[in-house]
Amino acid sequence: MKIKRYKKVNKHLNFYVNNFGFRHPYQVLVDGTFCFAALNNKVNISDNIPRYLQGELKLLTTQCAVIEMENLGSKLSGALIVLKQYPVHKCGHEGKPIVASKCLLSMLGNCNPNHYIVASQDRDLQNNVRNLVGVPLLYLHGKTPVLEQPSKVSVEAAKDNLGGISMSERQTIEKLKLENGMVSDNRDKPKKKKKKGPNPLSCKKKKKQSVEGKVVKSGDRKVKRQKVRIPEHVREVLFNKKT
Ligand SMILES: [Zn+2]
Repeated sequence: MKIKRYKKVNKHLNFYVNNFGFRHPYQVLVDGTFCFAALNNKVNISDNIPRYLQGELKLLTTQCAVIEMENLGSKLSGALIVLKQYPVHKCGHEGKPIVASKCLLSMLGNCNPNHYIVASQDRDLQNNVRNLVGVPLLYLHGKTPVLEQPSKVSVEAAKDNLGGISMSERQTIEKLKLENGMVSDNRDKPKKKKKKGPNPLSCKKKKKQSVEGKVVKSGDRKVKRQKVRIPEHVREVLFNKKT
C-alpha cells in the first residue's frame, strides 16, 4: 500500500514538474486549517510532509493566515504556534489583512507563477484551487497526507502546454522550421510522391489487365468458336443420327 501511495505522489508531482516547471525544494503554502488538522491528528508537518512528498520542502505561510488564527482565539493557539514556525511570504496585504483563504488565492494568481503547493483543509479554498491551472492541492485525510490528483483544468492546460512549451511558442518554432525548409521539405515530398505514385501505377495495372484480358479472351473465344465449328461431313453424320 505504501509503495503504491508513493508512486501516486511521484506521478502527480512529475505532472507539475513536467508541465508547469515545479522544482525542488517545493514551496508549500500552509494555512491555519491545515495546522489545526495536523495537530488534532498528531501529524508532525515538518517531518511527515517532506517524507510524503519525497523531497526538501519550504513550508511557508502569509501574514493574513497568521492574523486570522490569532483572531480566532485561544482554542486554536496550538495550531497558531505551529503556523508561526513557518516563514511568512509577502502577500501585499500588510497593514490591511484579509481572510486567509482569499489571501492564499491571491498568492496563486492566474497560473501559480511561484509554483506553490497549497496545504489546506478549507473546502472553499480547495474548490477554488481546483479551478486554477497548475496548483497542487495537499490536505490531510485523518492522519494521512493526500496530494490530490491534478485537476481537470490543469490536465487540459497541460495538453496545450507539452514539455513547458506553450502553444504560441510551438507555433513560432514551426514557423522557423518552415522558413528554414525543414518542415516544408518533409511535408511536400510525400504529397508529390502520393500524387505521382498512385496514378501511373494504377494506369499500368489497368493497361496490363485490359491488354492481357482482351488478347487472351478474344483469342480463346476465337479458338473456341473455331473448335465449335464442326466440319460438314461430321454435321451430316450427326444430323443423320438425330434424324
Ligand atoms: Zn495576505
